[in-house]
Amino acid sequence: MKEWIFGHSVRRLVLTALCGAFAPVAWTAPRPQIPIWNAPDIDKVCGETLSKARGEIAVLERLPLSQATLERVFGTWNRMQILVEGFEDTGVALPPEKRARMKLILQRLEEVRQAFARNIRDNKTRLAFSPEEMKGLPASYLEKARRDDKGSYLLGFEYPEYEPFMANAENEEARRRYYIAFNNRGTPQNLELLGEAARLNREIASLYGLPSYAHFVTRRRMVESPETVHRFLDEVEGKVREVERREIGELRAFKAERLGKSVQEVTLNRWDLPYYQEQLKKARYNIDQEALRAYFPTDASVAWVFAVSGSLYGVRFVPAKAPLWHPSVRYYEVIDGKTARFLSGVYLDLFPRDGKYSHAAAFGVRSVSLLARRTPISVLVANLDRNGLNHRELETLLHEFGHILHGVLSRTRYASQGGTNVERDFVEAPSQMYEEWTRKKEPLRLVHQYCKACPEVDEALVKRLHAARSFGRGIQYGRQHLYASYDMALFGEREVDPMQGWIRMEGETPTGYVPDTQFPGTFGHLVGGYGAGYYGYMWSEVLALDMLSVYGKNLMNPAVGRRFRELILSNGGQKPAAEMVREFLGRDPSPKAFFEEITGQRGD
Ligand SMILES: [Zn+2]
Repeated sequence: MKEWIFGHSVRRLVLTALCGAFAPVAWTAPRPQIPIWNAPDIDKVCGETLSKARGEIAVLERLPLSQATLERVFGTWNRMQILVEGFEDTGVALPPEKRARMKLILQRLEEVRQAFARNIRDNKTRLAFSPEEMKGLPASYLEKARRDDKGSYLLGFEYPEYEPFMANAENEEARRRYYIAFNNRGTPQNLELLGEAARLNREIASLYGLPSYAHFVTRRRMVESPETVHRFLDEVEGKVREVERREIGELRAFKAERLGKSVQEVTLNRWDLPYYQEQLKKARYNIDQEALRAYFPTDASVAWVFAVSGSLYGVRFVPAKAPLWHPSVRYYEVIDGKTARFLSGVYLDLFPRDGKYSHAAAFGVRSVSLLARRTPISVLVANLDRNGLNHRELETLLHEFGHILHGVLSRTRYASQGGTNVERDFVEAPSQMYEEWTRKKEPLRLVHQYCKACPEVDEALVKRLHAARSFGRGIQYGRQHLYASYDMALFGEREVDPMQGWIRMEGETPTGYVPDTQFPGTFGHLVGGYGAGYYGYMWSEVLALDMLSVYGKNLMNPAVGRRFRELILSNGGQKPAAEMVREFLGRDPSPKAFFEEITGQRGD
């Protein structure tokens, strides 16, 4: 009898899991490549399967069982549990009228997400700057910039245009103007959409009888509850606030010195932060981001990332033919070094063009499933400078490639657990960890193999990069703390007006609220799946920096790389992240390295 129940239950759970596997993709508009969703009664079938599975789990839990049986049955069950929960969160476990409402909410949230992104992407505003206002920008930037017939430069909202300008343009008024325009992209419509998303998410929580969307979200995350997030954020604030004030004080003094004024006469504004940090790093550490492009030509950098990843994880990236959506896109096959087996495919879409997504991101477009013999595909989208990367862009490339590896090296039984389908507050850990390969000598000196004519990265440069990076941590993490706290407030128990909430919270930071800006209308994360999850960037970083400790002084250690592939990348989300990390570390995780990092104390 028991055996029958076990066998039967496991089969039932597999069915449930399959329902679950299709559920997350099914929220988003019709997708013809997934015909199962077109079956009119799929909701009903999966709903019934689920409730029966729940009933059987309840029976199993009451039976007296031997340890061996427990492991055999519940080992599978634990893995299924993650799938079942994901499935339940799409609304199928709710009573019929609530289920119908949930479906409508999820559809509307998807429309909101798309409209929000479109309002930013399709904003074709160009600001005109006189040649005088362009002073400080490198010649390569000026050559590429568009100009009107009066000779003014026309700059839009793509990162390769905006960021170098904010870091280099000497004219403060020009920086102020660009900053304010940039922080109004997508508004006012996006403020409406953000408010609507917060209301709909609050309604989801109430359908489940939970006090807030933050509760709904965090119960499936490593943190398990909003309280843990608040405690973590308080601790971050406690560590960074002082460092942030000190750095702002230093920058203010630096600005005063540059302008030949007394410190009392100058204010350090938000549009000054990137500029004076950049100038201070040039003056104090001799780090010029623009000059670094000579070390990291774009093609050589990509070849280097392939080589480093290949030797760490025992794979090869082989250029191959595939239909492409733009001539600049490239496709590679990932081949296992030992078995020569085809593992997966990677597309690289690296350069900016009109109408293209303007951030850098990795998309796992097809997830692995060993059960269905399905191989994964990931796409890396970025907007890199064609001629060469500065150090920040090199970090971005590695970061996104960390996500790509998670996608293409995972070997999970179910598609819905493949690659980056892990707890959202763990998903950034492998990618944040991979950024470190741009900061250490052993991997960096290998770039030269792909560009013999380029200057070579030496010990001294690595040290200067490290010193420069250590300055500004307080400012950066103070900002991250603000974003995460704002996100938690917006999706917390009390309704918060998006703009009023932001004005209050940014107003409490050392640089204050900037009048005429509407930042929340540009904060796509909050409607794009990171609602009540932005804290996850810092939470993941705790784990990322801790996991680095396993490599010790040698980031190119293939034995550790293989273990990371096997214990973390390969497993995707089929085990709880906490368990995988503990196994990789051989101990409980510690936030020590993270707190050293955010206060600028982490050693090189
Ligand atoms: Zn990321």
